[in-house]
Amino acid sequence: MKTVAFIGLGNMGGPMAANLVKANYVVKGFDLSEQAKEQARKDGIEVVDNVDEAVAASDAIITMLPAGKHLLSVYEVTLKAAKPGSLFIDCSTVDVDSSRTAHDAAEKAGMLSLDAPVSGGVGGATAGTLTFMAGGTKEAFDKAHELLDVMGGKIVHCGGAGNGQAAKICNNMILGISMIASSEAFNLAEKLGLDHQALFDVASTSSGQCWSINTYCPVPGPVPTSPANNDYAPGFAAALMLKDLKLSQDAAKSAGVSTPLGSHAEELYQSFNDAGGSGIDFSGIINHLKGSK
Ligand code: NAD
Repeated sequence: MKTVAFIGLGNMGGPMAANLVKANYVVKGFDLSEQAKEQARKDGIEVVDNVDEAVAASDAIITMLPAGKHLLSVYEVTLKAAKPGSLFIDCSTVDVDSSRTAHDAAEKAGMLSLDAPVSGGVGGATAGTLTFMAGGTKEAFDKAHELLDVMGGKIVHCGGAGNGQAAKICNNMILGISMIASSEAFNLAEKLGLDHQALFDVASTSSGQCWSINTYCPVPGPVPTSPANNDYAPGFAAALMLKDLKLSQDAAKSAGVSTPLGSHAEELYQSFNDAGGSGIDFSGIINHLKGSK
């Protein structure tokens, strides 16, 4: 594969596409935002005005879009324009149903398709160290590997169509719940006269240990790289955590699965977002919880 179409050159897609350019791929990029296009040009991406043109000239088509409705509207156009047998890779985080609908449409149009949402944020996208969770056939996965390898550090094949999205929302449901649990523990410790560092030293090496404490501790001090030490600048914004929790709860409803803590985490992140937290790192919920009755 030499030429790649990249649709959605925002905070994540922009640096991912730039890494493909650095690895000597010809990248034809498309976005609706002037700001995204301008940055992409600076990064060596051939920005095109017509998405059909980009897709028809490419062997692989990568999308990095806000939500399922954007994905389906882009696929409606691009599946008609692409060469038969082209590889469609969707890296956006979208609902499982839209992802599976997109896979079906791609398959009917004679294309290979993969859902490959990511974890690792803008830092991982820039450094080329994202984790990809992929769903689709082995053929599509094997073919996509060389591209994902340029943009990521870890690539996991999670099974058939939509399973990458399923893995992503299950993981982030754990993360949302565990960040709330960690925050509640630090808030309680504070009131009981227990030092942040002392709780960290115990919990990070005991049965309470988890990523939300060990790597992304929600209080300033114990983990110097955590957003708590940078006034809770994201990182991973609370708006995106709320998006992923909503996707997990939609999926739980449609699969008939009981997820009471996932549902409560969604309510708490909704309340944090409503109170003005949407642009704050998701670990900033610790301060919102202090104010909740
Ligand atoms: P973003 O809003 O910065 O970028 C999305 C881009 O898509 C925008 O530039 C927008 O103009 C473009 N777009 C929208 N509709 C389009 C269309 N029809 N045609 C072409 N371009 C279109 O968002 P982002 O932070 O880059 O996130 C992208 C995806 O990655 C989302 O699904 C998000 O949930 C997921 N994600 C984000 C992060 C993160 O930390 N930002 C981490 C993991 C996953």
